Amino acid sequence: MDSPSSANRQRRNGCRIVLFPLPFQGHINPMIQLAKILHSRGFSISIFHTRYNFPDPSNYPHFTFHLLSDGLSELEASTLDTLRLVKLLIANCVEPFEQCLAQILSPDDLICRVVCVVSDAMWYFTQAAADKFKIPRIVLRTSSVCSFLAFCALPLLRERYLSYMDSKMEAAVLELPPIKVKDIPRLETHDGEDMYRAIENMVRETKKASGLVFNTFQELEEPELAKLQEQFLMPTFTIGPFHKRFSAASTSLFTQDRSSISWLDAQAPGSVLYVSFGSIAAMDQQKMNEMAWGLADSMQPFLWVVRPGLVRDSEWLAMLPDEFLEATHDRGYIVKWAPQQEVLSHPAVGGFWTHSGWNSTLESICEGVPMICSPFFGDQMVNSRYVNDIWRIGIRLEKGLERGEIRDAVRRLMVERDGEEMRQRVMCLKEKAGFCLNSGGSSYEALDALVDFISSFTFPA
Ligand code: UDP
Repeated sequence: MDSPSSANRQRRNGCRIVLFPLPFQGHINPMIQLAKILHSRGFSISIFHTRYNFPDPSNYPHFTFHLLSDGLSELEASTLDTLRLVKLLIANCVEPFEQCLAQILSPDDLICRVVCVVSDAMWYFTQAAADKFKIPRIVLRTSSVCSFLAFCALPLLRERYLSYMDSKMEAAVLELPPIKVKDIPRLETHDGEDMYRAIENMVRETKKASGLVFNTFQELEEPELAKLQEQFLMPTFTIGPFHKRFSAASTSLFTQDRSSISWLDAQAPGSVLYVSFGSIAAMDQQKMNEMAWGLADSMQPFLWVVRPGLVRDSEWLAMLPDEFLEATHDRGYIVKWAPQQEVLSHPAVGGFWTHSGWNSTLESICEGVPMICSPFFGDQMVNSRYVNDIWRIGIRLEKGLERGEIRDAVRRLMVERDGEEMRQRVMCLKEKAGFCLNSGGSSYEALDALVDFISSFTFPA
């Protein structure tokens, strides 16, 4: 799809880009995909990574890997409080990152010159290190533009709406339509205030970056991009969907159970609801029961990813009521982790019940699969509101996890006319996503512009 001229390719030989992903599935996937995209355009790639959560370097023989000591104890690394983990990682990685960068920039290394750093937006401290070494930093924000705008407005939104967050959850947030008070990103953790400060730092340091990259496409978030560019004056590149250039299979932190595909092969076209809440979301047993009975009562076939850890303090499958397993054994299939992109593109899949993580949302859009949305935290609240209200390609469950609402939503999405209309709309977006990657398309052009932009760091006119 991408066909750089060999002259350009030669010019870029010897130019190295350092990429530093935040070590969670939804952040590693797009960062490694971006690394592959840039490598395919002739850049050499170095990945900085923590000891915590990293895929096998032997899957990427063309990249070099640099381990940063993240200082996490075994106990800290095993916590289910992801936001706490992010906070610890940020605190622990400042020095190792600077040391590692100093090393790779050392003049002894004449073979490859580092031309820029691409870091996850949450690694905000990398801006100071990049400034210190006078090297440009490009930020990769792994979520949607619409949710990023909500993060940018968070201090204001919390000040204006925090006082009635619990009493007027359905009220509109006038500053950011169509968001409601209940969609204001929440960061529920023991260290809540620290995390809100981290988000403020993330926004402030992103404003100092040389460039900004999003895994989205222009046609999906045009008005939001225009708003973004009023606040962020550096060049912004929307070059997504990344996974349509390079799949995420090799970056999976869990083993993908391929029996899910054979099971789907035996199902009728468009009949199966795929259910997965990503790599981090967790709930209590009572919510799990509601989920299970909502699914059972819908009478619809389903493929369900029940990740170990999905229910706090519970063993796998012990999370599910025996009566539920008996009632659904002939129309439900349960795995610990699935090859999600392949699942979503399978003809048997007619809907996706998701937590509205951005990768999942984009993957669903790219396969033309309408959604049911159960957001848990952070950007998921905003993504799901856009799915429901703006793109109108899915149903946000407004009552949380409640079996009656689940049953009705599954029926509505899978067999009713309403669902069919959502399917048609998401098919239109799928088509647009396909066009934007082709020659002349918005993401195709944006990638060319990004490559030129990075090349300009090394070859001043
Ligand atoms: N994923 C997968 N198999 C599963 C569930 C998820 O491969 O059974 C992948 C999915 O394709 C996506 C990523 O894990 O690329 C999850 O990212 P997302 O942003 O949706 O959610 P997060 O895990 O960050 O909450």
